[in-house]
Amino acid sequence: MELIFASGNAHKIEELNDKSPGHIKVISMRDRGFDGEIAEPGETLEENARIKAEFIYDLFGQNVFADDSGLEIDALNGAPGVYSARYVGPGCTFDDNNKKVLAELEGVANRHARFRTVIHLILDGEHYSFEGAVNGSIIEQFKGTDGFGYDPIFLPEGQKRTFAEMTLAEKNSISHRAQAVEKLILFLSSR
Ligand code: IMP
Repeated sequence: MELIFASGNAHKIEELNDKSPGHIKVISMRDRGFDGEIAEPGETLEENARIKAEFIYDLFGQNVFADDSGLEIDALNGAPGVYSARYVGPGCTFDDNNKKVLAELEGVANRHARFRTVIHLILDGEHYSFEGAVNGSIIEQFKGTDGFGYDPIFLPEGQKRTFAEMTLAEKNSISHRAQAVEKLILFLSSR
């Protein structure tokens, strides 16, 4: 079974092929011939994942899935959420976004947050959704240099180190994305 991942992120494709059962081959939308960016106008992770999967499905009529992830902070009513990548604005850096979050949470006692990933799958014309989440809190200063995005300010629940202080393997053993991917693979394995 060939499945298109509606993403241009070669690293994510590689990781998925590594974990997928033998009869499933994940290819990127770039390999399939779509080289552009897909707009993400949705107001939720669910909407954006569905929009991206449907866009590629409409182009190629082939089994496809898409993902969308974000950081949801309780004291900010779920922000940055769907705007996680561009919280400060177009072209902003991870550093800009992290600084904005820390400034917004200055003096705020409730630091609870979660990372969430939603995967939307279209398989033989049917729609399925898978979710992964990891709870944690936003610390007061950057800690760690690995990872990306909000990793240096996110301390997963029950852990002593931020995502940015963990190895990739450690992060992948608990991360929101890994949990959603696990569910997708479990589902595909049964097909
Ligand atoms: P994407 O949907 O995987 O592209 O994630 C959107 C944005 O959410 C990223 O640009 C990051 O800002 C943030 N994000 C998602 N997953 C993570 C993570 O594992 N660590 C840190 N930031 C993340």
